[in-house]
Amino acid sequence: MADASALLALARTRADVCLERWERLVSLETPSGDAELGAVFGKELAHGLETTADRVEHPVGAVGDHLVAHWAGRADAPDDGHILLVAHSDTVFPAGTVARRPFTLTADGDTVTGPGVFDMKGSLVAVELAMDLLARTGRAPHRPVRLLVVNDEEIGSPDGSRLVAEHARHATAVLGLEPPLPGGALKIGRRGVARIRLAVRGVSAHAGLDAALGVSAIDELVDQLTALRAVASGLPDATVNVGTVAGGTRANVVADHAEAEIGLRYAAADTERALMRAVLDATPVRPRAELTAETLSHRAAWAMDPANPLAARLVAHAGELGLELPLGSSGGAGDTNLTGSLGIPTVDGLGPTGAGAHGEDEHASLSSLLERAALLASFLSRG
Ligand SMILES: [Zn+2]
Repeated sequence: MADASALLALARTRADVCLERWERLVSLETPSGDAELGAVFGKELAHGLETTADRVEHPVGAVGDHLVAHWAGRADAPDDGHILLVAHSDTVFPAGTVARRPFTLTADGDTVTGPGVFDMKGSLVAVELAMDLLARTGRAPHRPVRLLVVNDEEIGSPDGSRLVAEHARHATAVLGLEPPLPGGALKIGRRGVARIRLAVRGVSAHAGLDAALGVSAIDELVDQLTALRAVASGLPDATVNVGTVAGGTRANVVADHAEAEIGLRYAAADTERALMRAVLDATPVRPRAELTAETLSHRAAWAMDPANPLAARLVAHAGELGLELPLGSSGGAGDTNLTGSLGIPTVDGLGPTGAGAHGEDEHASLSSLLERAALLASFLSRG
């Protein structure tokens, strides 16, 4: 008990250092896909992590460098696997946002605002602090620790998910540093999500004179989308969102092309398979129409297990810190969908509490950041 509380007390003495660091990381903007800004941020983050890490690497990605930091476990650490921390450096905000809406500590002395404070630059500060707490108290992690920071999570980790898979191999536990659920609850399940482009090729014809010669790609698309909605309505926890539709040329021409971008969400693997099959194996209603379905991005469902033993251990550590740690499942998807769906013990939502991710009102709590850092340090030191 004294052990964990000492970590929290020490974390609280680092509040000013953390605030400064948080401001620094928010001021270095990281819109997804901007390799140049990403590199500047990566260098700064590596600089911070190098004070405690044994090694920091920059695996080259499709849009700039990701980052992997390694900490050795203590001398008697078991050699059957490592703990993987999963984070991301990119935000949804375009460059220039911070000039208009800079990092600010509000009058309550605890809430900070600014682009990316909550999702997820506060989490990166919490990890730096957690490792600093271990170093300052002369503790080493009970197992080797790896931190993976991808730079493309906000666009579905098209490149980063490769690294999540690679570094999750032989991991005994995966801790996701995404923001928690409202109220600070950890995530022990996430709905999966897939983006699919469904394109239809038809045959153009004069809509008045030769309509029978044509095949309307738009009519075909409408029928396909209606059929997909019917499939989804018969499945548990499945949603279909047609995000965009396009096609055709003018009202007196039978449309020879149409396409839609479709977002599918599902909470279980069975539902995922049924939904994916409904789109990818769809056959045209009209004999001369052609369908092409392309998966643009995909995250598997991570089904919630209320008895998640990793979560139970974290709850126990939180209890020693005098903190309540509720558990829940998330409607949104992230990098831990992959590890959770593979059956690797996974918990996400370990970032500081706050709200308003991706919006103008994004904010997060400093005291919570200190608590999360102490929780991480406590878990990493003892398991
Ligand atoms: Zn995030």
